[in-house]
Amino acid sequence: MTFEAEIPADIRAFRERTKAWLREHVHPMEDRIAATGVLDVDEYDELCRRARHELALPAQYSDETGPPVPMPIQVAIEEIAGWATNGLGGVVPSARGRDVFAEIASPAQQERYVVPLRNGEAREAWAITEPASAGSDVNGIQATAKRDGDEWILNGEKWFVTGGDRATFFLVLAWVDGEQALFIVDRGTPGLEILRRPQFMHDPYTSGHVELRLQDCRVPSDHRVPSGEPGTRRWLAIERLMIAARCCGAADRMIEETTTWALQRSAFGRPIIEKQGVQFPLADSATEVLAARLLTFHAAEACDTHPNPSVAHGKISMAKLYASEMANRVADRCVQVFGGRGYMTENVANRYFREVRVDRIWEGTSEIQRVIVASGLIRRGAEEYTAAWPDRG
Ligand SMILES: Cc1cc2nc3c(=O)[nH]c(=O)nc-3n(C[C@H](O)[C@H](O)[C@H](O)COP(=O)(O)OP(=O)(O)OC[C@H]3O[C@@H](n4cnc5c(N)ncnc54)[C@H](O)[C@@H]3O)c2cc1C
Repeated sequence: MTFEAEIPADIRAFRERTKAWLREHVHPMEDRIAATGVLDVDEYDELCRRARHELALPAQYSDETGPPVPMPIQVAIEEIAGWATNGLGGVVPSARGRDVFAEIASPAQQERYVVPLRNGEAREAWAITEPASAGSDVNGIQATAKRDGDEWILNGEKWFVTGGDRATFFLVLAWVDGEQALFIVDRGTPGLEILRRPQFMHDPYTSGHVELRLQDCRVPSDHRVPSGEPGTRRWLAIERLMIAARCCGAADRMIEETTTWALQRSAFGRPIIEKQGVQFPLADSATEVLAARLLTFHAAEACDTHPNPSVAHGKISMAKLYASEMANRVADRCVQVFGGRGYMTENVANRYFREVRVDRIWEGTSEIQRVIVASGLIRRGAEEYTAAWPDRG
């Protein structure tokens, strides 16, 4: 298997440069958030501006033209976002083709919404989940859109909308005549109301996960995105792959920080790293992160090349399932190695312990990933999913 070795030298250099930059600029910010309990959004915005210049991806991956950058390269970049907590990994620049909205937007929507997104002048938030019956079951949404002349009238309630407190526009999934459609709703549109910004397990984060209501909310007819249900499915697939990637990066950092700590900390007159009870969980973690990484790159390659998108999606589900469960196991082991310090909320392993918990839930729970993989196995047989080099005849 060669996909990891095929990550180009300039992307490898970008990864190393970015990791060093995060250590210098972002990890101290994490410590300040831990000490004060406050995330300074102006400081974060300034970091994003600096990162755009100081970490800029080579032009062939970031300029507006050209085909989407291959998924294994997207994964190699997104892994590094996992090297930060509090959502601060969002400073890591993304390559062309990372954002599904850019893929599915109409030409007019590209100009009005996608270009500002790429310039950092706009922010999007995807509003799919609903309180009543649409989380795992996306078909359970109840939001509706009705045509009225040159406008759509939207009604519904959406929960857990990540980035909703700072979004300049929302992508809202709603029913139109028995099919699911996506609509762009600008922040401030009459009838759109942010109801609540609940607190979550993680520390102060770069964005909230808000609850919002649409009540007779009117948007122009050209705010319907051309691809509704397939676009949402594609968004979920790519986000799942990127969660797997970030989990690999997060596990790398946890192992690195915990090993450094175990080398310094002594018990019974010797560094604790000399104890097998400390070595073995680290060895298990290193083994599992490599397994997760290979699976994630494999899924990324399938995403680009597999002739059947359902099989590719199944492999992405396998990667999301394994990598997110792996990151949670790693976090738990690292908390243990830090001892009492690992129970302090300011501790890096503790922060990850609380943060990676959501990776088993959002964009489809671990159970839903298993449902997707199992239904593929039943339909197509195991080999399509378990073979690393499937024979496509
Ligand atoms: C921090 C955070 C951020 C989020 N961001 C967004 C966002 O930006 N946009 C958005 O639209 N949504 C977002 N979500 C929503 C997220 O995708 C859902 O929470 C998730 O898909 C689970 O849906 P649910 O919470 O309704 O759980 P439910 O669907 O009610 O599931 C409850 C439990 O039942 C299990 N279950 C359900 N069906 C099955 C089945 N068929 N087989 C086995 N077990 C099953 C689930 O695995 C789970 O354990 C976010 C959630 C969180 C926590």
